[in-house]
Amino acid sequence: MAEYKTWECIVCGIYYHEAEGWPDDGIAPGTRWEDVPEDWLCPDCGVGKEDFELATDVESPQMVAGAEPAKEETTAAPVAAAAEPAATVASNEVFRKWECIVCGIIYDEADGYPEDGIAPGTRWEDVPEDWECWDCGVGKEDFELIEGSETVAAPAATPAVAAAVSVDNSLEPVVIIGTGLAGYNLAREFRKLDKVTPLIMVTSDEGEFYSKPMLSTGFTKNKSAADLVTTASADMAANLSASIHILTKVDAIDSTAQTVTFDGKVVKYAKLVIASGAECITVPVQGSAAASVYTVNDLMDYARFRTAMVGAKKVLVIGAGLIGSEYANDLTGAGVSVEVVDPMPTPLASLLPAAAGTALKNVLAEKGVTFHFGTVVESLDSNGSGVIATLKNGTKVEADVVLSAIGVRARTDLAVQAGADVNRGIVTDRSLETSVKNVFALGDCAEVAGHLLYYIAPLMVGARALAKTLAGERTEVSYSAMPVAVKTTLCPVTVSPAPRDVEGEWTIEEEAPNSVKATFHNPQGELLGFALTGSATSNKDALTKQLPAILV
Ligand SMILES: Cc1cc2nc3c(=O)[nH]c(=O)nc-3n(C[C@H](O)[C@H](O)[C@H](O)COP(=O)(O)OP(=O)(O)OC[C@H]3O[C@@H](n4cnc5c(N)ncnc54)[C@H](O)[C@@H]3O)c2cc1C
Repeated sequence: MAEYKTWECIVCGIYYHEAEGWPDDGIAPGTRWEDVPEDWLCPDCGVGKEDFELATDVESPQMVAGAEPAKEETTAAPVAAAAEPAATVASNEVFRKWECIVCGIIYDEADGYPEDGIAPGTRWEDVPEDWECWDCGVGKEDFELIEGSETVAAPAATPAVAAAVSVDNSLEPVVIIGTGLAGYNLAREFRKLDKVTPLIMVTSDEGEFYSKPMLSTGFTKNKSAADLVTTASADMAANLSASIHILTKVDAIDSTAQTVTFDGKVVKYAKLVIASGAECITVPVQGSAAASVYTVNDLMDYARFRTAMVGAKKVLVIGAGLIGSEYANDLTGAGVSVEVVDPMPTPLASLLPAAAGTALKNVLAEKGVTFHFGTVVESLDSNGSGVIATLKNGTKVEADVVLSAIGVRARTDLAVQAGADVNRGIVTDRSLETSVKNVFALGDCAEVAGHLLYYIAPLMVGARALAKTLAGERTEVSYSAMPVAVKTTLCPVTVSPAPRDVEGEWTIEEEAPNSVKATFHNPQGELLGFALTGSATSNKDALTKQLPAILV
């Protein structure tokens, strides 16, 4: 029997050990990665299977004696068989490359595609027939052999960045501003391709690696800010062979001289990437306690909010969008009393049709959340050790702590300084390059070919493409449909919003109480978006396959 393997979540660092499975989610010990349901989400940070990588540098636990594997080896899915060649391929074998004729992505037999369980060294004919292009979602039939692509190469020993790197300090560096998921995932992807170019990272925070989605599930799980850190900045620097300047703001960018200034030093760059994220929009309220509103957009915010929450019994959440709803869910799960104010009639109103928003509202209300829809907070005044909010409709709400979650705005100031075009975000082309040569933008700060998407999936796609560009192979991003899972665990929601301003209408089916399947079709009958709540979220995979790509 083949040894069990370990898969690592590249967003939060948690491991899935095949030998142990994930019994809490009904995944028995011995379940191979390819047999883990495709809609399984990382138990810690909520990302999907596509954001796990084979952890070749981790010793995987094997089944304990007497324990029954979930499946006999002979019944394993084709991918398991396909993964075998990795161990047996000789270092001087010939590998070929196959190109996706739709999006141009290249499957290299030497590298395989460990993200989908296809080990390095897997021959094209051993890639499962139902495998799909990771970029644009077409099937194997849309790949063509690149004639003359045969190379004699060893399969990559490991995609991990911890591999020995010998940086050549005579080269001009790649500089990345920001160590959020965009900055770190880019650095990690870059180091898979280029082990010699110096890498400098500059961040105004502490540079620890953590998964931002976990900031809105931390109260139910009782996680402190320190608990959420998976890798310290010093270890990140070692793993990436990078120098990381923490608690440091970039003061200036001179895009003509190709320099950045920080800590009084002027550093020349070959390529500069702005991955400075987004900032919370300040809620416009009056009153003596207006300044005591908390926002949470990074680990330090989270630490401050948790300190404020010590002994707090009641929280007022301003905004019932994605983050506000997740916090209402999380704080309720932690036994805190929550009131939510939003000018719209239902939660997540910009993403969900009313029926789906109502389902979410019903479940949260049943669990004790009080909603004030169709109004806003006008003023916040001190009230003993807490606050009293006056809403526009005249209602007064008392709370110990106020959390604002009314949205974020891309940080564009550095790009403006560099002379790059900005719109709602830093304007880039499909190669993530700004209007200024050798200056790129990635993540929440970037508006890529008109798309400003404050989610992880697009930044992961961008990180992979930009890493190639930085390593010398100019690569454009393609966005397939990327549904977003809202972590309202009391009533799970998955949504793939239809493009703005397109004609069409919603069809609503209630499959069970508060389990809504809402689909949005254009007049030609094409599916353009969907919203799913409760048990109807099981329709996600089937519907996603029918959606058009966001950026082909
Ligand atoms: C509470 C919460 C929950 C979320 N949940 C989900 C989810 O479930 N699924 C999902 O897909 N998305 C989720 N998101 C969104 C997702 O987390 C973000 O899209 C993503 O983390 C953005 O990463 P980033 O690296 O672009 O930005 P950030 O993480 O904001 O990183 C920006 C970096 O830039 C640095 N920086 C900024 N300005 C400067 C400067 N002048 N000089 C130096 N450094 C600077 C900062 O210190 C930081 O290191 C959530 C967001 C929040 C707030």
